[in-house]
Amino acid sequence: MSQVCTGEGFSTRNIGGAYNRLLMQPRRPTRQVTLGDDRVGRVRIGGGLFGTTPAPVSVQTMTTGYTHEIDKCVAEINRLTAAGADVVRVAVPEKKDTDALRHIIAQVRVPIVADVHFHFKRALEAVEAGVHKIRLNPGNIQDRAQVIEVIRACKERGVPIRVGVNEGSIIERKDKQKRLKELGAFFHDNKRGYLLAIMIAKLEEYLDIFYEQDFYDIVISAKSMDVPTVVDAYSEISKRFDHPLHLGVTHAGPKETGCIRSVVALGALLAGGVGDTLRISYASDSVYEVEDGLELLYSLGLRERKGAELIACPTCGRIQVDLIALVQEVRRTVQSKVDLPMKLAVMGCIVNGPGEAEGADVAVFAGDRRGIIYVQGEKVANVPEEEILGKLLEECLKFQEKVRRGEAKLGDKKVEIIPPDPIGELGSGWEKIAQQQSQEKGKQQATPLTVGKS
Ligand code: SF4
Repeated sequence: MSQVCTGEGFSTRNIGGAYNRLLMQPRRPTRQVTLGDDRVGRVRIGGGLFGTTPAPVSVQTMTTGYTHEIDKCVAEINRLTAAGADVVRVAVPEKKDTDALRHIIAQVRVPIVADVHFHFKRALEAVEAGVHKIRLNPGNIQDRAQVIEVIRACKERGVPIRVGVNEGSIIERKDKQKRLKELGAFFHDNKRGYLLAIMIAKLEEYLDIFYEQDFYDIVISAKSMDVPTVVDAYSEISKRFDHPLHLGVTHAGPKETGCIRSVVALGALLAGGVGDTLRISYASDSVYEVEDGLELLYSLGLRERKGAELIACPTCGRIQVDLIALVQEVRRTVQSKVDLPMKLAVMGCIVNGPGEAEGADVAVFAGDRRGIIYVQGEKVANVPEEEILGKLLEECLKFQEKVRRGEAKLGDKKVEIIPPDPIGELGSGWEKIAQQQSQEKGKQQATPLTVGKS
């Protein structure tokens, strides 16, 4: 039966029957975990249960260099922090890495997570060094007594633990067939069911050890390189545990392809209300992981944007300046110097330029090797191509100051833009287009109709 809008009490969530699930869902309430301290700052993950307020979804990343190379590691962490990382994880495969942690933590301004595999002693050493969170992998630290020792050390110091299962390390190969038989039927209607069953069973067994120790400062992750598995695993886990979830696609590949893989999986989960912190993983500079993680959250409206939102046309045969180069330059120079979340539009010609300029706080659209710049709908400049970048930066910074002084407001549209006289203001670029169009029109008219002539 179709829904009728009666005004009061009507909710968009009633629209669309089975398609309801396509709508953005509210965040799933979870327990809350806090990491960090007064010096590096505190990051809250998840929330909504037990009187807590849900924290914004945080962005994590991981260093790519050796942790024991202290200066390099500190420099990398500082670069990642400057890019906007809320939390940074480091690998601690050897004692020299946990030995380095104390010196690293003292020099950075972001909570640090120690990524522990195989050696439970590394976890104890990291806690002793003052790390802010531990990641344990149930696939390779399984000895109950050792896990209890780590839990007790973390409990004593108030250090949360992420229990991170990974598709690649979760399957205990020696009893794989038996586990599949025991657990597979549970997800019989799901082709990834066996793997999911193993991941969830492993988590349940592992977390029981934590609960027995009365330890609930837990974040869970269940990563795979396969997007549908990631979506299914986290969806299933979100129904079974009330701990915050750390989202990620593991081994996603280089940025170029890993970006699609990560964003499609994490985007689907976040839109469904699932996920409290995330790491996008690329086989490249981790700064990209931070930038893309933040952009994903901004795009979904899950984080307040820091810095300008860049809108740019995809370019086409009507292009009037070297827009692709201009957009890259704007991204590199202008966008990085603007702190406020202003909308900044860079458009290649008059077709969509005025429309975008109307909606953006600052906009430039191109004429024949020129740029016409608007600030909140008011034309402020018409400059040759080589001066566009400088002028745009100047206008953005001027506008930013006005907003800070309270003389302007982001998103305010002052006047409606009347498209400029294409020939008078934009020059021969538009004229050329107009000529071309009239030639094409002339050709069409001159072409005799062939229909019915045979
Ligand atoms: S704004 Fe102009 S150049 Fe850019 S895509 Fe649209 S029509 Fe093409």
